[in-house]
Amino acid sequence: MKVTVLAGGVGGARFLKGLRHHLRQAMPDGAGGTTAKITAVVNTGDDMWLTGLRVCPDLDSVMYALAGVNDESRGWGRSGETERVSAELTAYGVGWPWFTLGDLDIGTHITRSHLLRTGLALSHVTRQLASRWDIGIELLPMSDEEVETQVVLDGPTADVPEVVHFEEWWVRYRAQRPAREFIQAGLTEAAPAPGVLTAISAADVVVLAPSNPVVSVGTIMNVPGIREGIQTTPAPVVGISPIISGAAVRGMAEACLAAVGVRTGADAVALHYGARSEGGVLDAWLIDSADARLSDPIARAGVHPVVVPLWMNDVQTSANLAAAVLDAASTLSAAKS
Ligand code: GDP
Ligand code: CA
Repeated sequence: MKVTVLAGGVGGARFLKGLRHHLRQAMPDGAGGTTAKITAVVNTGDDMWLTGLRVCPDLDSVMYALAGVNDESRGWGRSGETERVSAELTAYGVGWPWFTLGDLDIGTHITRSHLLRTGLALSHVTRQLASRWDIGIELLPMSDEEVETQVVLDGPTADVPEVVHFEEWWVRYRAQRPAREFIQAGLTEAAPAPGVLTAISAADVVVLAPSNPVVSVGTIMNVPGIREGIQTTPAPVVGISPIISGAAVRGMAEACLAAVGVRTGADAVALHYGARSEGGVLDAWLIDSADARLSDPIARAGVHPVVVPLWMNDVQTSANLAAAVLDAASTLSAAKS
């Protein structure tokens, strides 16, 4: 059993933790792990160089969560953090004072930057970082090339737009300044990281995690070759709505959807992804029980709707969601054969 998941940071991490938990119980290997192979293809469009360090927010959110060393209450970074280094950087007037990196987290960024500077590719470096913990999931960056999501905002004068890094818009401006559009610098020259296309083509199920559809999953699928890989894989493709009752769960995905002209609704996001039978990427789409009435428009668009609880409040609710994803995939596979 091979499961490949396209994931952003927090939503992706919660789902992956649940998936791992479910598979360890449903397909145990007798040593606390699972015989199933889970591969996560993670968004790197939020990455940046900051005070000489390569920061990969989504890869780190996923790695820390799977290692069990993340800060659950804050939602990002390491648990038990201190911020002494960040305070020094601010005193020197470098870095982004509104983007605080914890000391333990900076340890990760120093290691990553060091390894990248020795000439290793990000995919290799990511494997090396993750090998410190027994996370039981293969983490792949979407690409080894640097891709940067930027946001075009209205500038001080209407005809001169201001372009900022995605994290500046997200963290500094809390996505409150309307985004005119997103630019993904470097994307057209980027290639999928080694292993990504095989993980998609050889999977038994491909999952679009309940991550941001525009700047997480959307960015991954915009890497040349990845969308085509999903459209042509023999595996069923199952997506999970990050939207419940017309609102993003934990986050500000509404502002991203608005920028690309998509209504914040579980049905609208499904239509945005599109049915594979119609040139899109989805075979099935999981929506929350509160959105059951949206099954009809989703089915009419050619996507198989599945209604289940979508709130991932702890590892058990996330595992139940993962089980529903695998159920939907086997229903689709059975219908095909
Ligand atoms: P980021 O990179 O850290 O912003 O995280 P992601 O892109 O992986 O995920 C952000 C999205 O996860 C948000 O837009 C939320 O709508 C979604 N999300 C977070 N928690 C939950 C949950 O419990 N259930 C569902 N269905 N979606 C969630
Ligand atoms: Ca992110």
